[in-house]
Amino acid sequence: PYDVLVVGGGPAGASAAIYAARKGIRTGIVADRFGGQILDTAAIENFISVNRTEGPKLAANLEEHVKDYNVDVMNLQTAKRLEKKDLVEIELENGAVLKSKTVILSTGARWRNIGVPGEAEFRNKGVAYCPHCDGPLFEGKDIAVVGGGNSGVEAAIDLAGIVKHVTVLEYNSELKADSVLQERLRSLKNVTVITNAQTKEITGTNNVNGITYTDRVSGDEKHIELAGVFVQIGLVPNTDWLGNAVERNKFGEIIVDKRGATNVPGVFAAGDCTDSAYKQIIISMGSGATASLSAFDYLVRN
Ligand code: FAD
Repeated sequence: PYDVLVVGGGPAGASAAIYAARKGIRTGIVADRFGGQILDTAAIENFISVNRTEGPKLAANLEEHVKDYNVDVMNLQTAKRLEKKDLVEIELENGAVLKSKTVILSTGARWRNIGVPGEAEFRNKGVAYCPHCDGPLFEGKDIAVVGGGNSGVEAAIDLAGIVKHVTVLEYNSELKADSVLQERLRSLKNVTVITNAQTKEITGTNNVNGITYTDRVSGDEKHIELAGVFVQIGLVPNTDWLGNAVERNKFGEIIVDKRGATNVPGVFAAGDCTDSAYKQIIISMGSGATASLSAFDYLVRN
């Protein structure tokens, strides 16, 4: 069996695998797509000490760093079941069952898409999902935020300090964000809120140039010219496959303590699949290191 088996090959998993391998223990990493979300990212400018890089380049760097160590890398493999017996068992889609004394779950998350024409086409060309990451790219420009929940309204408040103007488009008749956030939003002069707005299309040529929505009350179709659209309708953790094997919160995030431990002894978790406060590369890597050191500590004690 492995001493540490990491499930997920994004920043969190890569970091966990390296920290484990550096202890000289038997380490494996299973990933359905090594690199994770950063493979879909254009510029990365907030990975501290690296002024600017591109997602696919950082993913290649991660893989190279992991391969510097004695780690079994099982790429293009998807885990479908976890069971805690004497050891922890991970069953893969291909039917194989991997056994390990400890497991670190780092299966990440994915942004929920609106699913309208233009969204995929203009991804990284005006369509963005992360205000902390991409906000500065839209300095002085007009943008829209789709989604009026907490994350949408927080994004709009944040972006209003950087961009020229923010239009918030909410599908329902009112915003769902906490009232303090709504008050803060409404106090900002460069924000317009449009409710009952069903996004129909993100338009553009090479880059985004506007958004079209239907007013759900009048039925009229409207178009706004702008340079960017932030989609903020939810971040979904890749944890469905766990079922009830590990405790998760109502958003599906794996509940971890400050050491990255889950409710199951020997099972740890890190990164965007957990209930961590913020979802960023640098935070995922830190939590991967934490979970890995905790797994090592667990092995020493058991
Ligand atoms: P992920 O990167 O999601 O990796 C999850 C890994 O688990 C993948 O390898 C995946 O294939 C694998 N996996 C999932 N399910 C299974 C399964 N069942 N079995 C096996 N493997 C599985 N953050 C920043 O800090 N700066 C930025 O500029 C930035 N820009 C972003 C731009 C975009 C478009 C997106 C989508 C995200 C951006 N982020 C950015 C966020 C950042 O990418 C994430 O916070 C980070 O990748 C999370 O790392 P992770 O390892 O927890 O998960």
